[in-house]
Amino acid sequence: MAVSFDIANAFNSIPHSAILEALRYHGVPTYLRSLAAACALAGTPPWELEASVLSAVYHWTAEQRARDLRPAPEERGAVRRHAHEDMVRDWEGDLSRAQFGRRTLDAIGPNLDRWLERPHGFLTYRLVQVLTGHGCFGNYLHKIGREESPSCHECGAAVDSAQHTLAVCPGWEEQRRVLVGAVGQDLSLPSIVNAMLDDERAWKAMASFCETRSAGMAMRRSPYPPRPSVAAALARCR
Ligand SMILES: [Zn+2]
Repeated sequence: MAVSFDIANAFNSIPHSAILEALRYHGVPTYLRSLAAACALAGTPPWELEASVLSAVYHWTAEQRARDLRPAPEERGAVRRHAHEDMVRDWEGDLSRAQFGRRTLDAIGPNLDRWLERPHGFLTYRLVQVLTGHGCFGNYLHKIGREESPSCHECGAAVDSAQHTLAVCPGWEEQRRVLVGAVGQDLSLPSIVNAMLDDERAWKAMASFCETRSAGMAMRRSPYPPRPSVAAALARCR
């Protein structure tokens, strides 16, 4: 599929609304349009919001110079901090209105400032898969044409998903018991993210659950399942 979309440039120069419109125009499947969730996970604000911080500091500095004032570096730092806080509030608002990646955004969005400022918590490949639902889950593999059915290989449930893995599937009971011991009984993603941000032990327990589960799945699922044509996969995702 030819898509005239340079993600490196786009992330650094084009408003997200324009990027999403380009993705829609080119027929990119919805599950690949979760730019807002990707940025939130990475802690990288959209360029236009980053620019608002630079703009606020620039205009404040220009105003000081126009008045022939020489403010201390601490004053400039305070202006930058306030502008950053305003930017995070605006970003939270944008995330609350984003259309795609809602499961991830509903967990991170309300905790965005804590997510950005967390003193602990390394994002692993497997952890991101469970946080986004984009990974070795029946419903996702079915969407992208990697599997014939979205069902769970562990328990036979009609739909396997990241949340099914976390909270329901009997195939992961033992690993879930350890997770519950660290994050509590509520295994909804917002509650887990809250616990992860509160306590490094909970973060590590969640990351460990994701790694263990993924290692188990890798042994059970064929790493190279048959792939349908690209056209058939895209048609299924729309
Ligand atoms: Zn299952």
